[in-house]
Amino acid sequence: MPQLSTLNRSIIISKAQAFEYDLIIVGGGITGAGIALDATSRGLNVLLIEKQDFSAGTSSRSTKLIHGGLRYLKQFDFKLVREVGKERAVLYNNAPHLVVPEKMLLPIIQDGNYGYWLTSFGLWLYDFLAGVSPLERKKMLSKKEVIELEPLLRKNELISGGLYTEYRTDDARLTIEVIKTAALLGADCLNYMAVDDFFYHNKILKGVFCYDPQNEQKYLFKAKQIVNATGPWVDQLRRKDKSINNKQIHLTKGVHLVVSRKLFPINEAVYFDVADGRMIFAIPLFDKTYFGTTDTNYIDQLETPLVNLNDVQYLLKAVNHMFPDVNIQVNDIESSWAGLRPLIHQDGKSPSELSRKDEIFVSDSGLISIAGGKLTGYRKMAERITDAVITGLRKSEKKNFKPCQTLNLKINGSLSLTPQNLNDYINEISVKIKPFGLGLKQAKYLVSHYGNQADEILSGFEYFPSINPTIQLARAELSFCLNNEAVLNLDDFI
Ligand code: FAD
Repeated sequence: MPQLSTLNRSIIISKAQAFEYDLIIVGGGITGAGIALDATSRGLNVLLIEKQDFSAGTSSRSTKLIHGGLRYLKQFDFKLVREVGKERAVLYNNAPHLVVPEKMLLPIIQDGNYGYWLTSFGLWLYDFLAGVSPLERKKMLSKKEVIELEPLLRKNELISGGLYTEYRTDDARLTIEVIKTAALLGADCLNYMAVDDFFYHNKILKGVFCYDPQNEQKYLFKAKQIVNATGPWVDQLRRKDKSINNKQIHLTKGVHLVVSRKLFPINEAVYFDVADGRMIFAIPLFDKTYFGTTDTNYIDQLETPLVNLNDVQYLLKAVNHMFPDVNIQVNDIESSWAGLRPLIHQDGKSPSELSRKDEIFVSDSGLISIAGGKLTGYRKMAERITDAVITGLRKSEKKNFKPCQTLNLKINGSLSLTPQNLNDYINEISVKIKPFGLGLKQAKYLVSHYGNQADEILSGFEYFPSINPTIQLARAELSFCLNNEAVLNLDDFI
């Protein structure tokens, strides 16, 4: 039975109650997932605990870009640009079905953030620092070329543009596949299990008290080291550990809106100026276009941050100004999401000025908390945290652990896939489903979500001529997720 099967839950809980792990990680977003994979692949015994579904927090609510962080160039943070830029290439190789190159157009407008020379130099430096391959390097465009590429853009303020390469991802799928990779290597992973409190021995952290809402049970799980990777919730756990110091989390909310691509038919992803000096993205994806994000201080409940009218008005004003013929109205919005950035507070800085860098705090009791950071940099963050965990373990253990293993470690679903053979695999799947009246569209869907697990999903596909084949495919997908992805709540699957 696959390690992350829903049916394995009670076995994992029984084991976890009787076992002392090397490491318990609290938080099943991309940060906790990355740490679980890094630590397990180095030989640590790991338990990952998530109180909602995996990736239900910020890791399913991002702009969904694996990006080199052009905005950090403006803050002269070359080290961060270099690190996240290099990580893009690593992730592209390790998970090519989930990390997809996407051309990004940056229109240069009068009085905008970037003039021609700054954009040209900035994008060149960006390509150079991030080690971008020659084919994907930036191109500067004349006003005429920008308009040809994106006729919907406002023309009177337009001066010219830059075209460069970013990468798009599916943040929640990336998180779940990283967790599945860790589970395949031996990590025990539990969702819908909330850490309520800590267990100490001689003031040193030795375990976590958990509550399982599925069966209303409480458990104690023990470990030598405990990492708090709860993103926006990091300070809640630090408070329980009485280890809040002068460095605290500052939450800002980011909102995205989704409309039909027919209504907002851009050809390329666009990164454009807003009147208040910020910049936002508009990204076409299948038959939708989404755009965002906002960046405002947030002090409300953390589980389901909501989109309010101010957020909507801000984004609609920005889009309708830059794309005047589009004229999107509130009623045109088909969907939306809001996410919380767990940033580190800096006195006197506005939300957009706060650093996106990650920081590690180690408390007197031994709780290791990680805050800040980006989806893009999760692998390097995980490496740093696991190094800190191993330093802690070495104080009491003589065991030797391997150095970081994740640089070339393929993410589950990508085992036989490379950026070069991805399209061949999509075509192969499309040929396999053709006899059932399905085709390239469904093949693309399957592979972009599940990679080479598409074959496994198809092995559960039962064909009945009287039933719509798309419904039968969805049934096979659900059955695969129940068996492989710890789906406990059908709403999470939908
Ligand atoms: P989360 O994903 O929030 O995970 C923390 C988890 O801890 C949650 O699932 C929560 O349920 C769990 N938890 C909390 N308390 C407990 C408890 N007591 N017991 C058990 N579990 C608990 N980065 C990029 O690289 N590219 C982007 O395009 C991008 N866009 C962004 C856009 C927005 C609007 C936002 C808000 C962020 C964006 N980011 C982006 C940043 C990126 O999304 C985050 O840095 C990242 O997702 C944070 O992941 P995390 O695992 O630390 O936190």
